[in-house]
Amino acid sequence: MKEIIVDTVDKKYSVYIDNNINKFHTLFEKNRIKISEKIFIVTDRLVYELYKDIIEHIKSENNCKIFCIAQGEKEKNIYTIQNLYDFLLENDANKNSTIIAFGGGTVGDLAGFVASTYMGGIKLVNVPTTLLSQVDSCIGGKVRFNYGNVKDLIGNFYNPIFVYVCTRFLKTLSNKEFKNGLGEVVKYGVIGDVELLNFINLNYKYILERENDKLGHIVKECLRIKSEVLFGECRNKGLTNVLDFGHIIAYGIEMSSKFTVSYGEAVGLGMLVSIKLSQNKFNIPLDTYGKVESILKKLSMPVKYKVDNYSSFMYAINHDKKNNDKLKFVLLEDNERCKAKVEVSEEEIKMALKESINRG
Ligand code: NAD
Repeated sequence: MKEIIVDTVDKKYSVYIDNNINKFHTLFEKNRIKISEKIFIVTDRLVYELYKDIIEHIKSENNCKIFCIAQGEKEKNIYTIQNLYDFLLENDANKNSTIIAFGGGTVGDLAGFVASTYMGGIKLVNVPTTLLSQVDSCIGGKVRFNYGNVKDLIGNFYNPIFVYVCTRFLKTLSNKEFKNGLGEVVKYGVIGDVELLNFINLNYKYILERENDKLGHIVKECLRIKSEVLFGECRNKGLTNVLDFGHIIAYGIEMSSKFTVSYGEAVGLGMLVSIKLSQNKFNIPLDTYGKVESILKKLSMPVKYKVDNYSSFMYAINHDKKNNDKLKFVLLEDNERCKAKVEVSEEEIKMALKESINRG
């Protein structure tokens, strides 16, 4: 079992990474969770069906209740939050209770928000089951839900007591959901570590076969990079939004394609446009684009996309909540560093699109 420590300045917690869930139970006492206290597992229906044995086994060994939500983004709303509060109240959850978020980023955001607010905050354990949640959302503390058609409008910051990543869960993930995570994995390589990019380049076949050891390495590296960006030097320099590399363009692509391009695919395409913008503005090495494009291809991710609906694309970009008035992007300054909040014009975006993913 691998372990990394996330040091958030005011709180440290461990992320355990393994290819099975056998040691999960042994980590409760170690992390100050008394198994005699009430535990609430929050999961979604699909994850429950797939991992009923494991979830019911955890339940049988603890003073535990299970709350299942329907799956998908549409459940990330105030009604689900309210139902979860009611469930906790009916089952006498108290200050010593623990919520285990057992699922993807949707479950993590919902259960995390409820844990952060119920009685002013109760203990939270994350057991992420999608690639996106394992490499990204299980740390960092963002817990949010959608409100009034605005994504992630209501939110909080709340850290888990510990995180347990079991890479075996990824075997049952659909290809679409797996690719959603791969987009972020490549992003961590681009913004954080050329070694990670080289690793993906060499091991793409095993990654696509979802080989446990390779996935374990990837998860560890992505979380290490995210943790360094959030709580290391980048935080002091106000550069934590380098984590959004490629995301603004990705949002435009998702919207203009009416979501036929999935999130992970859009992140890959968004990165290519952002690398081209970086080349045009900062003269970064010319081989960066080709290297990332070739890795995305190896991972069966798209590298071309024609923006037909340009006005919807620009509307989405202009209304991204990370952009206030002027268009500001995270770009690469050189191979080792990212520069956040670089002003770009619409013309420059158009040009970069033409020279990258729109190329004939
Ligand atoms: P998800 O949680 O909606 O899960 C996607 C689908 O995969 C669901 O149908 C789910 O039932 C299924 N699934 C989950 N685990 C599975 C498994 N092991 N095998 C088979 N199917 C499985 O999707 P996601 O991509 O994990 O998360 C997306 C959400 O995460 C979004 O709402 C996004 O806003 C949020 N997010 C949050 C952060 C953060 O820092 N808090 C970061 C990135 C994304």
